[in-house]
Amino acid sequence: MFKRILVANRGECAIRIIRACSELSIESVAVYSEPDSHALHVKKADQAILIGPDPVKSYLNIHRIVDIAAKAKCDAIHPGYGFLSENPDFAEAVNKAGITYVGPSPDAIANMGSKTAARTAMLAAGVPCIPGTEASLTSSDEAVEIANEMGYPIMLKAAAGGGGRGIRRCDSDEEVIENYAVTQREAMTAFGNDELFMEKCIVEPRHIEFQVLADSHGNCVHLFERDCSIQRRNQKLIEIAPSNYIDNDLREKMGAVAVQASKAVNYVNAGTVEFLVDKNHDFFFMEMNTRLQVEHTITEAITGVDIVVQQIRIAAGETLPFTQDELSFKGHAVEFRINAEDPQNGFFPTPGRITRYHSPGGPGIRVDGCVYPGYQIPPHYDSMCAKLTVWGPSWEHTVTRAQRALKEYDIRGVKTTLPYYRQIAASEIFLDGQFDTGFMDRHPELLDYKPFEAREDIAAAVAVAIAAQAGL
Ligand code: ADP
Ligand code: ADP
Ligand code: MG
Repeated sequence: MFKRILVANRGECAIRIIRACSELSIESVAVYSEPDSHALHVKKADQAILIGPDPVKSYLNIHRIVDIAAKAKCDAIHPGYGFLSENPDFAEAVNKAGITYVGPSPDAIANMGSKTAARTAMLAAGVPCIPGTEASLTSSDEAVEIANEMGYPIMLKAAAGGGGRGIRRCDSDEEVIENYAVTQREAMTAFGNDELFMEKCIVEPRHIEFQVLADSHGNCVHLFERDCSIQRRNQKLIEIAPSNYIDNDLREKMGAVAVQASKAVNYVNAGTVEFLVDKNHDFFFMEMNTRLQVEHTITEAITGVDIVVQQIRIAAGETLPFTQDELSFKGHAVEFRINAEDPQNGFFPTPGRITRYHSPGGPGIRVDGCVYPGYQIPPHYDSMCAKLTVWGPSWEHTVTRAQRALKEYDIRGVKTTLPYYRQIAASEIFLDGQFDTGFMDRHPELLDYKPFEAREDIAAAVAVAIAAQAGL
């Protein structure tokens, strides 16, 4: 087993990995940017090393991070999610330095990283894909032509896309022409690559993804599914496991296809195969994420498998400790991404100082967070500041437990998605358990709530200021 792992990430993601290291008696080395000097991952790791002054570029500095790992005598690097986690050059540089990359091979990352390359590989492997173009589009005129052959609505998508960006639905020739250049520009800015392709738009789909684990000895299993249909702007906000939409038959079929897809690219380590499921319960491959995912916690809750520990064991060359037949799931879990954003203002980010922070506890509750009272959420990063994972023996119990936990959760100083989630969790439609990706747009009434009382907030800010003056 490894002696020391460098965690090439920040925030709750880095803390999650540090915790796994600690339970495996592996030392953890955190890295951080100057604005992150007071970040919690810096305090929780056994060692923390400054990368540089730039808030974002620091975490993308391949050369510097590999160099720090070598100097600190780390025998492995975990990339987490976001940042360098889907960058084949990073995996390659880590391997070249004689350090183990906790993740798949650079080839597997490259093959699945581009959505067009992935579609080609999956079609060749006989995996059902969303109908669409295999090659990239060359002009808006060509896009209009293909859209007419395919039939509207269609989706224009960035081949290098991620995090819900670079995706636009088009319902007419005019919209294709209008969106083509915009999507191209967005893709160039966000991913440094303006390659676009087209997919048939699946109307009112469910986003259902399968977690896979594959070791370096040819064993590959899936850990069942997560339903991530509750999204805003194609980005996940609330995820549940298992899905209430699929039965055991379909679960088995989709799981087998996820394993088949992974084997087709010689996948090793943890990965996720994302599908869209339509109204007829037909399912289509959408993309594979070649890394740990934000919502892995709900799979851990229903299966009892520690996915990050498994990632590390697989990277160390161990054989998976279970076969598919030995895996099962129990109860239901839901994850809420607590973002520093104002849902009532278009989910605009709300960085700022946390004045009060009380997280929930008790049976079935797990909190993965990175903020504390007095912490200043920097404006440079993803707005997610905590994840609340709730497990219950039945869906109904999970929902009432989630209502209870959301009520207990108290974050002041910045607006968050919490009050919006309280509304969702208390609604009949959520209890009903049937959602497609249009859920949020169809229920704007859930955005109608009173944000926390301003006066209470000021009182909390004053308390923090007094405590700071007193040197507490
Ligand atoms: P998941 O796929 O794990 O559910 P997200 O899509 O929200 O999660 O992505 C996880 C994190 O990685 C987020 O911080 C997101 O902003 C970031 N991310 C995902 N894909 C990319 C990408 N291609 N480029 C940059 N950041 C990305
Ligand atoms: P990302 O890499 O940003 O996660 P995905 O390809 O996984 O991009 O798509 C993200 C979300 O966008 C999906 O969960 C779904 O809600 C929506 N989406 C993507 N492609 C389609 C499609 N062809 N039809 C309908 N919705 C889609
Ligand atoms: Mg996706």
